[in-house]
Amino acid sequence: MSWCGGGDISVTPGVGLISPPPHHDIYSIEDLAQLIHDLKNVNPKARISVKLVSEIGVGTVAAGVSKAHADHVTISGNDGGTGASPLTSIMNAGSFWELGLAETHQTLVLNRLRGRIAVQVDGGLRSGRDVVIGALLGADEFGFSTAALISQGCIMMRKCHLNTCPTGVATQDPELRKRFSGEPEHVINFFTFIAQEVREIMAELGFHTFNEMIGRMDRLDTAKAINHWKAKGLDFTRIFAKPDVGPDVALFNCEVQNHGLDKALDNELINQARPALESKTPVKIEMPVRNINRTVGAMLSGEIANRYGHAGLDDDTIHILMQGTAGQSFGGWLARGVTLELAGDANDYVGKGLSGGRVIIYPQAQSSLVPEDNIIVGNTVLYGAIAGECYFRGVAGERFAVRNSGVTAIVEGVGDHGCEYMTGGCVVVLGQIGSNFAAGMSGGIAYVLDEIGDFEKRCNTAMVDIERITPDQDADGPNDINDILADPLGSDEARLRFLIERHATFT
Ligand code: SF4
Repeated sequence: MSWCGGGDISVTPGVGLISPPPHHDIYSIEDLAQLIHDLKNVNPKARISVKLVSEIGVGTVAAGVSKAHADHVTISGNDGGTGASPLTSIMNAGSFWELGLAETHQTLVLNRLRGRIAVQVDGGLRSGRDVVIGALLGADEFGFSTAALISQGCIMMRKCHLNTCPTGVATQDPELRKRFSGEPEHVINFFTFIAQEVREIMAELGFHTFNEMIGRMDRLDTAKAINHWKAKGLDFTRIFAKPDVGPDVALFNCEVQNHGLDKALDNELINQARPALESKTPVKIEMPVRNINRTVGAMLSGEIANRYGHAGLDDDTIHILMQGTAGQSFGGWLARGVTLELAGDANDYVGKGLSGGRVIIYPQAQSSLVPEDNIIVGNTVLYGAIAGECYFRGVAGERFAVRNSGVTAIVEGVGDHGCEYMTGGCVVVLGQIGSNFAAGMSGGIAYVLDEIGDFEKRCNTAMVDIERITPDQDADGPNDINDILADPLGSDEARLRFLIERHATFT
């Protein structure tokens, strides 16, 4: 039997950024619906927005986004991408905002989905005329960024990601920042003129309100553009087609999505946790859970964050004991001071975005399953988790701890792609791993029990070093879970001893 430690790196300067980043919690429209539900739970006041690239077929995707209960969709056109995007994306991905917007609006209207979602458009809007054309093609809202930056002095050098912005707009370099000449009034002026131009064109067209103008593509004067010699042979009818629907079909955002938050188990958790929320008095809550109960703990955590910020509550102030099979995103964004203990099992995304809380899952007492040989939590557990601790008495699915940046977790086996893109935190796997372990892992520590001796074959060593754990019986162990990450160069054996004892205690 031997132990192997993964990349022992706690900070990531010099690690190349991936832009756009892959979202490992969204592989289907159902996954997206779950993410929207998760986000709405943690902050019910927030409008949840999905940004889509303007391209052929975006209308169908936007219809799915509206059905997935997003409050807002952005159709993003032109040569998008961050400064860190590869040139191939900047040059070749996406198309003009007009094409994606027209398709989106028409598809939403024809499927009676337009009223419940706000449509925003961006990607090179410069003038009030652009805003009016956007509204006539079906947009409720408009995003400006480059033009506003130019009003602050940006000269489009596209070096925002290199810290060398020559006009001091996008840099932390104190010398370059001295060159910044922008003023808030420049932005105010820019948008005031945009609004003025919109008003003038609206008056010319005879519209009294902005909403009247949305989706009125029949009011676009297209003759000049279509008769231009460059447009010869092109058919624009589909872009300017006005959906043939009755007066009962909404043409702009005038309804609200039903997020089903009134059915969330968290309403009851918040109710029972009131003494803790109001006066930090410890509470213990017991209740059953079923797989229809999704995102358990997120709304409660949002309440804690509202009152106490990321600092949350003292350890274990709210202790929740549940029995059963939890639905997706159990313990999502769980705040500091909450312990979520489950006797049973859970679906995908356990501890998504974990923010300081503690998640403990072990099989029910009457279960005849051998825990170390059976899955207890689903895929993509701890996605994007930033702080907290987890103990799983059983095996996890694929992509365990993907993008974990600060959580300490113990599990008894994982599927493929464990610790993928992890940038911090500590993961202990007391069992077998799948293939491609630690792919893109740029920080944190992973300890893997390698009884079979095939760890090296299963580990993706592109970014991590593998070391054997050397016996260190006399070394002082950590006193507290917070010490685990505080000293990444401390004794591995002492750290493991501490964590495994804790795992045995909790599970
Ligand atoms: S001038 Fe500055 S803000 Fe503008 S593109 Fe260049 S680096 Fe970016």
